[in-house]
Amino acid sequence: MTAAAAGRVRRGRIARYSPALLCALLPVIGSAHAGGAARLKCRAFDSKAAYQHLVKQCQFGTRVPGTPAHEQCCRWLSEELRSRADEVVVHRFRAKAGDRWLPLANIVATFNPKGERHILLGAHWDTRPTADRDPDPANRKQAILGANDGASGVAVLLEIARSLAADPPSQRVTIVLFDGEDYGETASGMFLGSRAFAEGYTGPPVSWGAVLDMVGDRDLRLPYERYSVEKAPAVVERIWGAARRAGSRAFVHEVGPRILDDHVFLLLRGIPCVDVIDFDYPHWHTLADTPDKCSPESLGQVGRAVLRAISEDEASGPS
Ligand SMILES: [Zn+2]
Repeated sequence: MTAAAAGRVRRGRIARYSPALLCALLPVIGSAHAGGAARLKCRAFDSKAAYQHLVKQCQFGTRVPGTPAHEQCCRWLSEELRSRADEVVVHRFRAKAGDRWLPLANIVATFNPKGERHILLGAHWDTRPTADRDPDPANRKQAILGANDGASGVAVLLEIARSLAADPPSQRVTIVLFDGEDYGETASGMFLGSRAFAEGYTGPPVSWGAVLDMVGDRDLRLPYERYSVEKAPAVVERIWGAARRAGSRAFVHEVGPRILDDHVFLLLRGIPCVDVIDFDYPHWHTLADTPDKCSPESLGQVGRAVLRAISEDEASGPS
């Protein structure tokens, strides 16, 4: 171990252990529920494939609601999930942002609909119509590509979907790709998809959930998001604990800022859900939010942590 590794974990460093090795070395999480202890499954996560999902979304161009690229990307995402999940429903709806009515679509994929426990995973798939944080004022009316702000979380979820298709979960797992997260100039025109989903939710109770947003930064660092700590501390413990056991060092054990994001609208409806987000991203809402600012390794750390959390939940049984 080098001096740097022995001290505080440096930003951007990643664990080099394979998930399979970690699973072999770490104790199996078991439980005393009827049927005895279950084995912890080690589900594979292909970081390079996840990165390709990120690049593919960006190849459609900016995914602003109401544009042809947005519709094309919607169809592609729906088809990708249909090839992996047991059920896929595209909820099309209109929502008002300022004086415009936007055509929006939440894409909802379900694995094992009969599962007793229920895990909800979300990310937003739309991109912002304005690069309002761009250093060059001439660029600020252009839409962003959203490699990190949008595509990264979706990319991780698509790869998690592939992994769950290969090794089906005993729980019900719902993946929701939210639309209209990043549209408005103010919060009233944002989070449109998660608001609609939360307000109309009539499905089975959710045991726990996580929203993934801005998780592709090459220099990934994920503190606890503060609303998550306040409203869903057990889920924070579950995800960050699983991350530690999966060797995902980007998840740091300190409290970060409060961030208004899709999870807040789920929390308001009583759905225990955390936000996994690295808000310290210099290219946020600029034209420079492009795939080269993201890395397969960062996506892999998040994907492995979430898959580990699913497997640990599965192995510990109902609680
Ligand atoms: Zn954004």
